[in-house]
Amino acid sequence: MPILGGHVSAAGGALKAIDRAVELGFATLQIHPTSPQAWAKPAIPDDTAAAFTAGLQKNRLNSAFFHNIYLTNFASENQAGWHGSIEISKSYLQLSARMGVSGVITHLGSHKGAGLDAVLDRVVDGIKRMLAEAPADAYFLIENTAGAGGTIGRTLAEIERITERIWPEYQNVGICIDSCHAFASGIPIHTAEGLESFLQEFQTRFGLAALRCLHLNDSKGDFASNKDRHENIGDGSLGLEAFRHIVNHPKLQTVPMVMEVPGIENKGPDRENLQRLQALVTVASDPTIPFSATPRP
Ligand SMILES: [Zn+2]
Repeated sequence: MPILGGHVSAAGGALKAIDRAVELGFATLQIHPTSPQAWAKPAIPDDTAAAFTAGLQKNRLNSAFFHNIYLTNFASENQAGWHGSIEISKSYLQLSARMGVSGVITHLGSHKGAGLDAVLDRVVDGIKRMLAEAPADAYFLIENTAGAGGTIGRTLAEIERITERIWPEYQNVGICIDSCHAFASGIPIHTAEGLESFLQEFQTRFGLAALRCLHLNDSKGDFASNKDRHENIGDGSLGLEAFRHIVNHPKLQTVPMVMEVPGIENKGPDRENLQRLQALVTVASDPTIPFSATPRP
């Protein structure tokens, strides 16, 4: 069975986020532990962190993820912005280890038209500095982008140029693939053949174990439009058939699938979007693999 869930609000505290996920029937969740528009580092006491891990297990949630703040740019020429990206991401990684969170999903930033070659050293250096002071069991997950405005990570080839320089020293870097971003950046994952060749390419470049999370979002923008605009499942240009292939793909049954859709009432991922995905599931559940709490994949 696919592991289906979504982003939930952490308003009122991280523990409230677990309640919301359970209420919606999610098996996995994602939160912003701090405001995504600010540089403030998270301050969560040890007892709350421990209660969060216990809450995941008690409610048989498969996993939880953090989404990093939106301001990070590991390619920033501005020293304050570059150091800030390293520092906030380090604090998120440290917190993720304390809370039993499976990964910190991050947009690397933008080269602002200079090209990846011009900023690659700085991006790699920043990630290594961050990882040098982060727990080895905390995962930094690079998210693919829709490809607008010089954003880094629009193709698997681009992401590989970074991971190939990190992995010899640090293995706790994985990848999160967003269906809307992949489609908008011109990767035809909306067809069965396109998805198959995408996963083949992923396997060849990284190995499937590096795929630690999927963001399941439909797209308001057209194919190859470079528009990062999420739509509810089945209401966008990807369409239900695309999600039918994804949720039933045998290689994706152990990869947490997290929706970041606007929601029917514009309140974020909801029961209706979950049910749309669940209705597509035809893959048989494997009785030899019991569903159990595994906060870390
Ligand atoms: Zn995403």
